[in-house]
Amino acid sequence: MLSLCPMTPAQSAYRGRFAPSPTGPLHFGSLVAATGSYLEARTRAGAWHLRMEDVDLPRCSMVAAGQILETLEACGFEWDGEVVWQSHRTDAYAQALEGLKAAGRVFPCACTRRELADSVLAPDGAAIYPGTCREGLPAGREARAWRVAVGDARVAFEDAIQGLIASDLATEAGDFILRRADGLFAYQLAVVVDDAAAGITHVVRGADLLASTSRQIYLQQCLGLPTPKYAHLPVAVNAAGEKLSKQTRATPVDIARPGRELFAVMEFLGHRPPAELSGAPLSELWVWAKANWTLAKVARGPALTCGVQQASG
Ligand code: GLU
Repeated sequence: MLSLCPMTPAQSAYRGRFAPSPTGPLHFGSLVAATGSYLEARTRAGAWHLRMEDVDLPRCSMVAAGQILETLEACGFEWDGEVVWQSHRTDAYAQALEGLKAAGRVFPCACTRRELADSVLAPDGAAIYPGTCREGLPAGREARAWRVAVGDARVAFEDAIQGLIASDLATEAGDFILRRADGLFAYQLAVVVDDAAAGITHVVRGADLLASTSRQIYLQQCLGLPTPKYAHLPVAVNAAGEKLSKQTRATPVDIARPGRELFAVMEFLGHRPPAELSGAPLSELWVWAKANWTLAKVARGPALTCGVQQASG
């Protein structure tokens, strides 16, 4: 059928996003995810949305969220639409959970952390649920959390950077939590509901989330939601092989020198901006980045050592 409205770039089929957790200021590793997702969206005439993943309220702060927004602005990122805050979207998560309850895909769980302390660990360090409450709560016990039953599900997807990723959920994830004992919704549920609500078609993010992707695709299938295309960028690690994060004392992005930061991010992502751009205005660096960006140059592999100077000790 002929469309009466010709498609403008803003209506391109591509919708990407960046979804930081405001648990601290933006550091180099998160700037890599922001830049990769932004350039991939913009060079495909796509939209790029920003979502504050503050679903885990006790770990998040408004101060950190404000710092992240300030840093993104200082670095020249321009997002489409309003920032989405997960803390405002709990009704949507509750509705999704109710749908899963009605479909018999989830079960209440009474187990405490201590009771699960001896569980087998998944490759990503998550405890594999031993199944204690899967067929019903033990007598006299009360529900604390809600878990999704994974059964013998296997998930496979083609990652645009990392290639074919296949997982057996029973041995690599187990029945995972969707609503925690403290009443908060889990990241896995929130992210799936939010990506679908925003019509996200492409997810570009750090490879530290690769193991989550299989869980998320499984949830999308349970909820009847579309699965976006995924591209997982290598995670920036320090010389000791640790992911740059607040815990490893990663230095926050220096907003007084955004051009230098972006230059370093482009190099990390396998691009070589000409040396004369190292002191050039930020806008010139972005012009170069948009003209030269290709996922094909990004190193394949889950982690890459980052040469950027980080706080020591
Ligand atoms: N909020 C997550 C993080 O900061 C990213 C989640 C995602 O991109 O799906 O690590």
